[in-house]
Formats: sequence, C-alpha cells, structure tokens
Amino acid sequence: LNKPLALSQSIKMWEQWFQSLDEKPYRAKQVIKWMYVDFVFDPSQFLNIKAPLRLKLAESFDWTLPSLDSALKSSDESEKFLFKTIDGQFFECVLMPFSNRVTLCVSSQVGCKLGCRFCQTGKMGFTRHLSLGEILFQAAYASNHLRTQNTERKLTNIVFMGMGEPLDNYDAVVESCKHFIDKNFFNLSHNKVTISTSGLIPQIEQLGRDLPIVPLAISLHSADNELRSQMMPINKKYPLPELRKTLLNYPIQNRHGITFEYIMIKNKNDSVEHAKKLVNFLKGIKAKVNLIPMNTHPGIEMEASEEVKLKDFQKYLSTRGYPAPIRYSRGQDVSAACGQLASKKKDELDFTPRSVARLRKSAV
Ligand code: SAH
Ligand code: SF4
Repeated sequence: LNKPLALSQSIKMWEQWFQSLDEKPYRAKQVIKWMYVDFVFDPSQFLNIKAPLRLKLAESFDWTLPSLDSALKSSDESEKFLFKTIDGQFFECVLMPFSNRVTLCVSSQVGCKLGCRFCQTGKMGFTRHLSLGEILFQAAYASNHLRTQNTERKLTNIVFMGMGEPLDNYDAVVESCKHFIDKNFFNLSHNKVTISTSGLIPQIEQLGRDLPIVPLAISLHSADNELRSQMMPINKKYPLPELRKTLLNYPIQNRHGITFEYIMIKNKNDSVEHAKKLVNFLKGIKAKVNLIPMNTHPGIEMEASEEVKLKDFQKYLSTRGYPAPIRYSRGQDVSAACGQLASKKKDELDFTPRSVARLRKSAV
C-alpha cells in the first residue's frame, strides 16, 4: 500500500489528519515548521509532539525527500542545486548571495509549457508541476545549507525565476508564497517574494485578488505585439493591449510598482525604436524595467545586445522616468543564469567531465 507523501501534504491536509485523530489542528503548523523551517524530516525528532503521535506520523506517511543530485558553485559565489524527485524528475534552484541580501531563485515546474524561443527551460517542454512541498523544499534546503556554511547569512529574498511558469501552477505557488511570508514559517518580508510571469492574464487578475502584497514581475521582452508573439507564443493568447489593461488595474502595493523583465537581444528588440514602444506600453503604470543581456545557450541563435545598445536603451527609459538597471545574470559558468535552467543531462553537456568533477568538489 502506498502511503501518502509527507512532502505533498498541505497545511489543510495535516489539519484534517490530526483532527481525524482527535488532535488539535495547530499540530499541523508544528509539523510544517519541523519540515521546512528546521529541516527535520524524521518524525521521531518532532519533540513537541508526544511519542505515540510521532510514531503514528512516521507510520502513516512516506517521508522520502527529493535527493540532491549535484551542487555547482559559480566563480561569482552563486550556487545551483539540482534535485531529483522520487519519480525521477530533475529540478533546480539557485542561491545568490549579494552584499546585503541572499536571494533564492526557485522553480515551479519541471520544464514549461510556454516555449519562449530564447529560454532553455521552454525548449525542454513540460513534464509536470512541482508540488507545494517541492517548492517549499527548495527554500528549506537553501536555508539549511546557509546554516551549515559557518556564515551569519540568511535567506532574505525569493524569486520565482527558475524553471517553469509559476502562474501556470497557481495554487501551489500562491500557497508557497503564503508560507514564505508567514511569521511562523519562513518569515520573509512580503515585498521580498517575487512572482515572475510571462503574462497569464486570468491568473494575474486572480493574484491581484488573492495575494496583491507580493511583488509582480512581468517578462515583457518586447512591446511590439508581433515581435512578442514571435518570441513568446503565449502572447498570441494574451496579447499586449490586454496585458496592459490588466496591469493598469493591478493593485500595486509595493514601492516600485510592477517590475518588467526585458531581455536585451542583439538586433532584435534593442533599438531606441523598441525603447519608445516600451515607454508607450508602460504609460500610466508605475514600473521599473530590468534590462537583462540575453544569456546564450547551444542551439539558440540569439545573443546579447552590445554594450552601447544597452546604455542607449537604458538612457531612453530613465530619462522618461523609468528606472532601468542592467542586470547581468549570475552563475553563467554553471548554467545557473536566467533562462539556462534545464535538465541535468543538458547541464552536464555544457561541461567537460573534469570541470564538472572540479565544480562538484568545490561545492562540497
Ligand atoms: N516563466 C516565468 C519565470 C521563469 S523565467 C517567466 O517567464 O517570467 C525567469 C526569467 O528568465 C524570465 O524573465 C525569462 O524571460 C528570463 N529568461 C529566459 N530565458 C532567458 C535568456 N536566455 N537570457 C536571459 N533571461 C532569460
Ligand atoms: Fe517558460 Fe518563462 Fe521560459 Fe517562457 S521564459 S519558456 S514562460 S520559463
């Protein structure tokens, strides 16, 4: 008989389970806290729960976890963790220490359905959603990793910019965000958990009702409807004028309004003409634009814009009131940069075996 996976239980499911045993529902919080805050997945160690109940927990659930397949550390100090699920799927997260913050880039799906032309994850297609537990596990693992590193540093920010389209896995992602900002659990500041989306309109509207306090990032990449449809097939379903309408009505709660991600691709979307279109698109929206020089990968014939194009584009935006920092991706040497997360096999193809071994060693 297959036992239910502990990792797949939501707080509601734990509550119901405890109540079915005539136990108080607050036990659910204790279990969640042990698992994701303390990184303890052995119920015999849940010491605020009495022994018979601990035994019952151990017996009733399968406590297997995703295993760490590999950890790769970049020369810029960011680290990529590759996990393997019980059903043999691979997913990744990337830990990025900056001077004043530590950001974790998490995955929401294995692969992605949306097939954006410039994205490695998009190229691999869709395998399955990650469960709530698998999303929380990434943050729990990273926090625990920091604790073991003899550093005072703690996880401060989470961005849904790993594999997958977070709003396509809506319930698990929104529920995980609630855990990230919950004082009892991860206790992150609500404006430090960012959901990045390619623009799924109905889900954006739903998010505005369910959880408007977490920052929203829109992967725009072009304000020209035709070009955007070429780059991002989802734009045919949810075209720019409708996206703009949705964003104009989005309840904006944080200081910066909405963040727009704009990959700068050489001779594609990087002229001042394109910047002009972008400013038109943004009119009336409180916006900040992150300019990301395209990360290249094998099999995709697009490259990053030249420096002068980046600067001109940036200047056009900033002189019109839109801050537009240029964001160089971290972790490029370990295929951990935006749009480079894919399957394990693909990653290792990018390395000679010896350099993989070396990186693995340095990650320990
Ligand atoms: N699916 C979501 C979140 C994951 S992608 C989304 O699209 O927003 C995270 C970010 O990486 C997005 O802004 C995406 O557009 C960007 N990205 C994808 N491929 C890239 C590449 N080759 N170079 C730079 N950024 C890329
Ligand atoms: Fe999916 Fe985002 Fe990649 Fe597009 S950019 S394919 S939405 S992960």
